[in-house]
Amino acid sequence: MGDFMLILNRGKVKTVLEYTKDQVFIRFEDDVTAFEGAKKESMKDKGSINCKISTIIFKRLGESGIKNHWIDTNGLATMRCHKLDIVPLEVVVRNKAAGSICRQTTIKKGTEFNEPLVEFHLKDDSKGDPLLTPDRMKLMGYDPYTFISITNKVNIELIRLFNLINLDLVDFKIEFGYDKNGELVLADEISPDSMRLWKAGTQESFDKDIFREDKGDLLAAYRTILKDLERLDYLPYLDSEKNKKE
Ligand code: UDP
Repeated sequence: MGDFMLILNRGKVKTVLEYTKDQVFIRFEDDVTAFEGAKKESMKDKGSINCKISTIIFKRLGESGIKNHWIDTNGLATMRCHKLDIVPLEVVVRNKAAGSICRQTTIKKGTEFNEPLVEFHLKDDSKGDPLLTPDRMKLMGYDPYTFISITNKVNIELIRLFNLINLDLVDFKIEFGYDKNGELVLADEISPDSMRLWKAGTQESFDKDIFREDKGDLLAAYRTILKDLERLDYLPYLDSEKNKKE
């Protein structure tokens, strides 16, 4: 993969390069940012660690029947993906309260929700990624329930996956796009940069809050997650297809 490829998008921590007319490379950079880019650092190997974590997650979600853009990962920090028509929304799922929901409401950090909360935000840093209502979404041309249905399946799979490595999935953000058949497909990355993970039964962070709040070694936590997920990859009981057959 050379530098001659057309850059389709240069995000805060990822670069999207055009590979063919239907496929892109998503390169994870060694950067970490918070507070809409106001806090930024470069950390060697962070890109390849997050690329590997995202790869394991997309692969598992695909095996559970959740369509996503991932095709393969050959380069150190680069995933090959289907090119999608990206939907400018961030879909946030909350199983427990943390972050903006605590800052914006009277809900206390750590409150567990009976039903996962699914929120939609407009993906536009210049507007502060405002929270959308389902009605506003419909007026923008999106059916909230199609997104909610896929998102709930993703949540169930991710809770299960992280429970196996002793982490509670507090919240996460996902993005979507339409494939060439017009089908809604999971896009972007799914990594500890875009989720909150607490050591089971505690509020000890294994995610970007370590960087946001200057509370420890971010890369050490990310490496632990990767090592534990890689170990799981060999365990047959994680294989949902196999479980169905047995
Ligand atoms: N998140 C993200 N990108 C964003 C905003 C949020 O990946 O632009 C993730 C964030 O890491 C967390 C979840 O979505 O896991 C919920 O974030 P929240 O709304 O609490 O905002 P924050 O506290 O991160 O400002």
